[in-house]
Amino acid sequence: MSGFRTDKRFIRRARELKTIAAMLRLYCRAHHDTQDALCSACSDLLDYAERRLQRCPFGDAKPTCNKCLVHCYAASRREQVRVVMRWAGPRMLRHHPIMGIRHLIDGRRPTPSLPDKKARKTDTSADD
Ligand SMILES: [Zn+2]
Repeated sequence: MSGFRTDKRFIRRARELKTIAAMLRLYCRAHHDTQDALCSACSDLLDYAERRLQRCPFGDAKPTCNKCLVHCYAASRREQVRVVMRWAGPRMLRHHPIMGIRHLIDGRRPTPSLPDKKARKTDTSADD
């Protein structure tokens, strides 16, 4: 986890993970009566989101997950995350304005097409 956070290649994903974590905290506190820590179901979901992000084929060109073409989440997880995001999204601007605004801006970025597996090591030449 620490490698994931500090590796420069993962900055955007680390930010997305932070946003997801913040949304889950808001959601969990309001719905599962927790204080500082997440309940086991929510921390399980966060672990899952982290693993998915680490494997995201877009790398740091990834769009925000709700816009993504690759539905890498299992259906049940996707539904869980969607419920959390729908509830927490509007509240993010109040509780974490900077993070919320960044997430909105990231959400406006165009969705990139899936990178070619062979060309994935160098993402500098996106001319096709
Ligand atoms: Zn919870």
